[in-house]
Amino acid sequence: MSRLEDIFQRAEFSKEDLIYLLMAEGDERTELFKRANSMKHKMIGNKVYFRGLIEFSNICDKDCLYCGIRSSNKNVTRYHATDEEILYAAKYAYENDYASVVLQSGELETPGFVNRVDRLLKEIKKISNGELGITLSCGEQSEETYKRWFESGAHRYLLRIETSNEDLYYRIHPKNEKHDYAKRLKALESLRKCGYQVGSGVMVGLPFQNVEDLAEDLLFLKRIDVDMCGLGPFLEHEDTPLYQYKDQLWPKLKRFDMALKMLACLRLLMPDINIAAATALQAIDPVGREKAVTLGANVIMPNLTPCEYREEYRLYENKPCLDEDADMCRNCLEGRIALTGDEIGYGEWGDSLHFKERKR
Ligand code: SAM
Ligand code: SF4
Repeated sequence: MSRLEDIFQRAEFSKEDLIYLLMAEGDERTELFKRANSMKHKMIGNKVYFRGLIEFSNICDKDCLYCGIRSSNKNVTRYHATDEEILYAAKYAYENDYASVVLQSGELETPGFVNRVDRLLKEIKKISNGELGITLSCGEQSEETYKRWFESGAHRYLLRIETSNEDLYYRIHPKNEKHDYAKRLKALESLRKCGYQVGSGVMVGLPFQNVEDLAEDLLFLKRIDVDMCGLGPFLEHEDTPLYQYKDQLWPKLKRFDMALKMLACLRLLMPDINIAAATALQAIDPVGREKAVTLGANVIMPNLTPCEYREEYRLYENKPCLDEDADMCRNCLEGRIALTGDEIGYGEWGDSLHFKERKR
């Protein structure tokens, strides 16, 4: 039996197994992708669920060393989309049967911000007769805030660990109490406690990161038992401190390929979770998200952010779809998903089966 077959026979993958899979090339790489795709179809079917992405504010109190909207970047015009703009985008999602939205922003813990998100959650529920599912991605907050937002209608939360390697975490974040690894872990625990479907994930191809770290990241996601995952390639941004390492990074195509292999491994490791095809994949390959769908991803986040703000929510270089309005984005994705042979789960929440199973 080949080493690959031997690994596929196992119920659990070791770190060495995962490293082997992440290094797979040629026929073995193709076989890994094939297995991940059939695992997806066997466990959760051929539906791809939409989550309309509303990047409602780029004001952030944090200074992550990789991110284009970090607080120290003065080359960004800061914005808060108005309530009307946010509700308009949510209404678009509702009327076009997206079934869910993601509210994403920089991280603020001020009472004004917390109250505003709370109010928006209630409004979105109201204008959609309680039917729109809401995912939040607003960073680390107190357990009390998470609880309040959950009670107001959010039921999924995305908080990437970014890297599970604590030393590396402190090389890509400033070393201060605002960027504390233990606090991040605690936030993920609080989300679980409050009843959310919890999503996490990592960036692939960070400076100083190696394949062993990535294998550990996969085991970390399994250990904390995520319900959902969003992972994608790291992409440099010229106004960030990590840009100084741009010549030491893996070539973009390698970061892209490694992100796809990570997705495929995760689908085999956690067959019934929801996995998003990250927008960052498309920044490297125009059909990057569709490729992710063919090897394990089952969630896509069409961008509903008002076009005038998109340029100011540039986390990294070449962020795609900066000038595509919601209709163009929808048409484009529809065609692309059809090409993968899967279908869009219009009108369905498409919640994580993994979460449902745990609840039983
Ligand atoms: N502020 C919230 C947070 O950090 O969780 C949500 C918004 S944040 C912009 C969303 C994600 O963008 C982060 O979790 C990070 O993984 C990703 N991101 C930021 N900068 C990036 C970069 N340069 N390349 C790839 N992904 C990046
Ligand atoms: Fe702020 Fe999130 Fe960017 Fe960090 S990754 S600087 S928390 S928006």
